[in-house]
Amino acid sequence: MNDPVANQTLAADAVIVGGGLVGLSMAIALGGAGLAVAVVDREDPAGATNARFDGRATAIALASQRMLAAIGIWRHVSASQPILEIRVADGDSSFFLHYDHRDIGADPLGYMVENRVLRVALYARAAELPGVRLLAPVAVAAVDRGRPGIALGRGTVELADGRKIAAPIVIGADGRNSGLREAAAIRCVSHDYRQIGIVCTVRHELPHRGVAVERFLPSGPFAILPLTENRASLVWTEAAATAPALLALPPAAFAAELGRRFGDHLGALQVVGPRWSYPLSLHLAETYVAARLALIGDAAHVIHPVAGQGLNLGLRDVAALAEVLVDAARLGLDLGQGDVLERYQRWRRFDALALAAVTDGLTRLFSNDAAPLRLARRAGLAAVNALPPAKKFFMRHAMGQVGALPRLLTGNTL
Ligand SMILES: Cc1cc2nc3c(=O)[nH]c(=O)nc-3n(C[C@H](O)[C@H](O)[C@H](O)COP(=O)(O)OP(=O)(O)OC[C@H]3O[C@@H](n4cnc5c(N)ncnc54)[C@H](O)[C@@H]3O)c2cc1C
Repeated sequence: MNDPVANQTLAADAVIVGGGLVGLSMAIALGGAGLAVAVVDREDPAGATNARFDGRATAIALASQRMLAAIGIWRHVSASQPILEIRVADGDSSFFLHYDHRDIGADPLGYMVENRVLRVALYARAAELPGVRLLAPVAVAAVDRGRPGIALGRGTVELADGRKIAAPIVIGADGRNSGLREAAAIRCVSHDYRQIGIVCTVRHELPHRGVAVERFLPSGPFAILPLTENRASLVWTEAAATAPALLALPPAAFAAELGRRFGDHLGALQVVGPRWSYPLSLHLAETYVAARLALIGDAAHVIHPVAGQGLNLGLRDVAALAEVLVDAARLGLDLGQGDVLERYQRWRRFDALALAAVTDGLTRLFSNDAAPLRLARRAGLAAVNALPPAKKFFMRHAMGQVGALPRLLTGNTL
């Protein structure tokens, strides 16, 4: 007997493999501009918005927030905490690098949003757009990108349930172990930091006043990121060899270890919810495009979370690729054509390379307790702090406001 599902071939302007934070944002940006998009993810959306799926919170730079507002996602974000100041310290040194949003203007430096809150907002916005079709949970079984060089050709994504989706462009948003990247034989430069990011949430006695703190400890950075309701999200980096023992500590001993690193500036602390752990590594795809394929987000680049920029980089990919594809669609061009994809790649590669170099350099420079290095970096932090133009440049960079910005990142629509 014929299986009606298995015989279905859907047609779309773009098919996105991976409906994580980046893939769904991409689908919404394209769908909102009138393109027909299919987005496929193997996770069940009901599970992906559960509090036990992803314990992280993300620092969303101001430019990224403007884009999320421009494509209709931000109004579904039910809770966000403005980041008003960032204080960086080397261990227990009093040399603070201090970023204050008032040095730049009235806007905050960015916003902290819990990932599960962001996912709920993404699903809600995707459901409003008739052009966006979310196929989940279902895995991708095979991808055929057709023969290269054929004008107005199609790539076809085959799902595990037999359905097929045909589109002129396949977008790989399938994360750090991207199957699409591997199938296209795109090589990746990788480095294992041999560090684990321990993530948890604490409730504290005193208000944080929107201040994010980054403390560079010998084992790695310890970030205290303000959340709503007197809570903070912690990203506590430890050597891979010692992290499992910390993660396995009974609650009181874990809280004591955490408290030693956190300090007492916010009064009494209480760990709320589970502890999470993420192995940290660097991955840079050697190219972001191939025949009828563009990689975005972690599929193209994974960086150390020290500067809280991984998702922001991915959202900048979304802004650039959406602009390139929508412009091409308006001109009636083939969306999978080499020139169109090259424009995207030229726009995005330098940003990812530069941030990978900066975050990699920071991690190596600060994860070392040798006395000469310690003195040099303390002098460096103090020097940047005393030099307003340098400070403002770094602030604007962290806010995502440097370089040739795609329209969406300036808050405009496509
Ligand atoms: C501890 C930590 C803290 C961080 N903090 C910040 C921060 O403050 N600010 C910031 O900007 N970034 C931060 N990041 C980085 C950020 O979390 C990532 O860059 C971002 O989540 C990547 O999203 P993505 O959608 O590209 O990939 P993913 O989230 O990995 O999504 C990939 C999706 O593809 C799906 N998929 C994969 N293969 C298939 C298949 N074959 N078929 C169907 N579906 C498939 C998966 O199910 C998944 O949903 C942090 C990272 C870590 C580890």
